[in-house]
Amino acid sequence: MSSPVRGADAVPVAVAPGATNGAAVSMTTEAIVAELRRRSSFVFVSHVKPDGDTLGAGLALGLALKALGKRVGYFQQDPVPRNLRFLPDSQFVTREVAADLPADTLWVFCDMSDSSRAGEFLPALARENMLDIDHHLGNSHFGAFNYVIPTEASTGTCVLRLLHALDVTITPEIATCILTTIMTDTGAFMHTNTTAAVLRMSAEMIELGADKPLITEEIFANKRFAATKLLGMALERATLEDDGRYCWTYVDQAMLSTCGADGEDTEEIVQHLRAIDGVEAAALFKSYEGAVRVSLRSSGKINVQAAAATLGGGGHFMASGLTFEGDLQSAIAGVHAALRAQGL
Ligand code: AMP
Ligand code: MN
Ligand code: MN
Repeated sequence: MSSPVRGADAVPVAVAPGATNGAAVSMTTEAIVAELRRRSSFVFVSHVKPDGDTLGAGLALGLALKALGKRVGYFQQDPVPRNLRFLPDSQFVTREVAADLPADTLWVFCDMSDSSRAGEFLPALARENMLDIDHHLGNSHFGAFNYVIPTEASTGTCVLRLLHALDVTITPEIATCILTTIMTDTGAFMHTNTTAAVLRMSAEMIELGADKPLITEEIFANKRFAATKLLGMALERATLEDDGRYCWTYVDQAMLSTCGADGEDTEEIVQHLRAIDGVEAAALFKSYEGAVRVSLRSSGKINVQAAAATLGGGGHFMASGLTFEGDLQSAIAGVHAALRAQGL
């Protein structure tokens, strides 16, 4: 997309279920709601290394469908991160799949551009039982049902459209889940996707009982000492290149061990690089657990989704990620080249 600023008022376009033509492909809100009403059972699926959007979106819709008398489960390959355990119903999130799921179970994938982002523990599923709710650029429309609105700030705000159309009561618990998705994906209302519409939806959630102080405390404060030590080490190793337009750093297993930290403690590092005056693109290389995962951030000029996509990853104009096939040194070189190809 040409502008990094995303509005939140785009109306999804009706197309045939399963269309994959790469246009503004999404089914209507009404068509999705009809399918939700038709099914008796749901499993919500979040992406690996889950964040507040993938998890909060699924929990919000799951809580609402439970209130309508539906059977609801939550599948997630990785454990719920420490800072998201406050989310209502997150205690029911598991990597196990119930043996007695009804045949009409709909698997609802939240916040992922492709079902492979759910991880390798996901059981084989028929496409006709897959619903893809998402806001990523380049979503592959992998479900028979796709509700993909790249102009939305979070997957949770896509879900909010469905909740309104379902005409269910938005309880304080549901409102907390939705506000969590918004605060996660707007960086607590800092990013350019914080439109007037997003603030209106947030106000609505707070009026309905969302616990904003709790979300702020759990997700944006409450840092472990180890995380702050790790941030210090990563910042000390930061490198500024391309006349100050590109800043990158890395975290490896030795640094994690020295600080007593783990992967969940890396969350905030990349935004410190992006926030440096003059930096147009920032990268964090996470080299542990046998892989090099990369977080990319833009200040508005460089399309980091396009850069990540050339290396097999994805995301948004301003925030993207990828897993690099190779060692740390080649990841650093490969990402630099991909960013330069996007105008760095
Ligand atoms: P992160 O840097 O992990 O916060 O991710 C930033 C954005 O990039 C999010 O929208 C992610 O969903 C997306 N993303 C991260 N890693 C990948 C990947 N390996 N493949 C596709 N998208 C990714
Ligand atoms: Mn996500
Ligand atoms: Mn998201």
